[in-house]
Amino acid sequence: MQLRDLLSSQEWLVEEPAFNLGKINVYETLFTVGNGYQGTRGALEESLKGGLQGTYLAGVFDHHDSAVIDLVNAPNWLPLSVWVDGERLNLQSCKVLGYHRILDLRKGLLYRFTRFEDSQGGRTRYESVRFASFSNQHLCGIKFTVTPENYTGTIAVESLLDGDCCNLDRKPVYVPPKQQFHPEIKWQKWAKSKHLEFVSGTVEQEAVYLQMKTLDIGNQLGYAAQLSASGTSITTEYFQDYEKISQVSTFQAKQGHTYDFEKLVTIFTSRDVGEEELKSSCLNTLSSESKKGIDALLDEHVAVWNNKWEDCDCVIQGDSKANNAVRFNIYHLLIVGNPNDSRVNIGAKSLSGEGYRGHVFWDTEVFMLPFFIFTQPNTARALEMYRFHTMTGAIENAKLNGFKGSQFPWESADTGHEETPKWTPDMQVRIWTGEEEIQITADVAYGIMTYFAATGDIDFFLRYGVEVLFNTARFWESRLEHNEASDRFELNMVIGPDEFHEHVNNNVFTNWMAQWNLHKAVEIYHWLKNEHPEHFLTVSERFSLSAEEIMNWQTMAKKIYIPYDKNKELIEEFEGYFQLKDVPITEFDRNNMPIFPDGYDEYNAKETTLVKQPDVVMLMYVLPDEFADDVKRINYEYYEKRTMHKSSLSPCIHSIMGIEVGDTTKALQYFYRSAFVDLNDNQGNTEDGIHIASAGGTWMTIIAGFGGFRVKNDQMTFKPWLPERWEELRYKLKWHGDELKVTIRHNEGIFTLLSDDDTKSEMIVVYDNRYTLESGKEVTIAF
Ligand code: BGC
Repeated sequence: MQLRDLLSSQEWLVEEPAFNLGKINVYETLFTVGNGYQGTRGALEESLKGGLQGTYLAGVFDHHDSAVIDLVNAPNWLPLSVWVDGERLNLQSCKVLGYHRILDLRKGLLYRFTRFEDSQGGRTRYESVRFASFSNQHLCGIKFTVTPENYTGTIAVESLLDGDCCNLDRKPVYVPPKQQFHPEIKWQKWAKSKHLEFVSGTVEQEAVYLQMKTLDIGNQLGYAAQLSASGTSITTEYFQDYEKISQVSTFQAKQGHTYDFEKLVTIFTSRDVGEEELKSSCLNTLSSESKKGIDALLDEHVAVWNNKWEDCDCVIQGDSKANNAVRFNIYHLLIVGNPNDSRVNIGAKSLSGEGYRGHVFWDTEVFMLPFFIFTQPNTARALEMYRFHTMTGAIENAKLNGFKGSQFPWESADTGHEETPKWTPDMQVRIWTGEEEIQITADVAYGIMTYFAATGDIDFFLRYGVEVLFNTARFWESRLEHNEASDRFELNMVIGPDEFHEHVNNNVFTNWMAQWNLHKAVEIYHWLKNEHPEHFLTVSERFSLSAEEIMNWQTMAKKIYIPYDKNKELIEEFEGYFQLKDVPITEFDRNNMPIFPDGYDEYNAKETTLVKQPDVVMLMYVLPDEFADDVKRINYEYYEKRTMHKSSLSPCIHSIMGIEVGDTTKALQYFYRSAFVDLNDNQGNTEDGIHIASAGGTWMTIIAGFGGFRVKNDQMTFKPWLPERWEELRYKLKWHGDELKVTIRHNEGIFTLLSDDDTKSEMIVVYDNRYTLESGKEVTIAF
């Protein structure tokens, strides 16, 4: 069987059609393979000059010699080199007669085909399939073949574990902004941070073993690797060059014959097992897994992928390109979600690159969590548990700033402490979000409530959720400032989601969310008292929660100031926003993205009403029940015209809100921008990693936008709308342990509740009418 035959049908594939050094870093990001435990960029096995290799292990952070804590660029398990009669096959030194790569979204496989012509005219075909196993998170591997097409000679295959890896730290400051370096050297110009130190390298049980340690935090990382060949006799040698350890297999190759190999790798860290068990865990797992044979391992891996897609696939009948893009976004969410580790979360660039140094933002709660809640609830629970586990850090943040409760960090890593850098990597611009973008604390509470509403996970909520909720309310209580003159509560010197405007007073998104947070805490306090009295006593005692404190939360919440122009029904993004200069956006780029009006950029946009990303419109998305339809429309129409979409988080929200207020033409455009943000490198920085919040937002656009799904008053509600050329949209949702199958057509919707309990029924609301679904029975509703 050819390796190409392992791949799924065309609609599941994303292709890199030819080798182009200028685009290689973008494809490295797009072609990341991963399994929640690790993510490995789609770098080429033989390593390229200009390549940006990265393997990232969730939760492995380090601070040593970098300005800010980094998600560590861990040892590289990929390297494979083929040597023909002493010459190394390399895309940059050989003639490339053929090249393409294909990512299989359905099976989590990265396929590669290359034909090299070496300096002696020897032609060699190399094919490989790479995977990060979904059935055993500690396992990854490459199945590959080597074919000498027109010669007979000596071929050596070198498999390496490389501990000599660094993180990118700072851009060269001396470079004029527009100067471009040749792609082969551009990364060499950066200052790097070395986070790893060599511990040991050995050869045991016919495998190589490398152990490295992170310098600051002291995480031990163990890797074992084995290269095996089938059907030919080979000579094996092992080499060690400090933190690089390799196995080399040499054989006499016959013209036209195809040689089969496999490289299997296991990875464990001292986060998973005790330090003394690290080596044996790597070697024993490698030995037991390799006994199964790579084909069986691939089968096991694909079987888990099948199950995942079963839960979360979305089918768009009538637009295969869009469908492929949506699946690409889901693929990236699937390879970074980890149900098995509740001490890790998802950074803004997933495990696919070093952008934002692996830090976690509100992106998780507001953009990614819905995907996991409604398709992979175990992963959603683990993500929420991360906030619980990092609450000690959040409490310390609050104390440090003179507040009570927990102040969740705008950028979070492994402890919950604030990790936002104070300066941009070129040291030119001060970053204030760590001090001022305090809305994150309410977003964390919002995530907890959304998770609980959809899953009904009472165990989580009582044991962990309420604690986070009360601690966030306490933070707001201490952070709110009382304005004596107007007897109102204010939040001053903040940054809202629109980060163009810093140090503003009374940003509506922040104030409203703080108010919501306080109201929820009060509501849950009373609910707990009535429904779970025993638990109520324990919690009240542990938190020293008194009825007075709760009353106080309620009073403060009522008096929070919201700037609002009643005559126009326009909400003012923050106090004084309407007095700023109104500069119309008149030009758009080839992706239909706004271009800054003459004389303006992201640094002086603060003088204008231009906004970076939705802020008031964002609020109407997160709290849909709190605004009347015409208020939503009026505010959408005002702010949409002023939004620059300088964050990839912006288009998906505009798509959903566009559908909600009837601006369907733009909504469709915004959907495409969101779905293709990385596939088309719309933001120009896909090389830094996947825009994973946009991936979550793209899924939300399908479900909450076109699919019209929202949770209102703890019920599933639907108001779908389909673009003309889409014939049908199909998706699934998990709800309180059951599943809902949804098919949307232009004039009808088909809903089926699937439950283990045959007697189960569920009420849904479709276009404001109520329907009861009974387990296993398909219900068709005409629109
Ligand atoms: C956006 C933030 C976002 C961050 C990480 C910024 O550009 O403005 O809203 O959280 O990127 O994705």
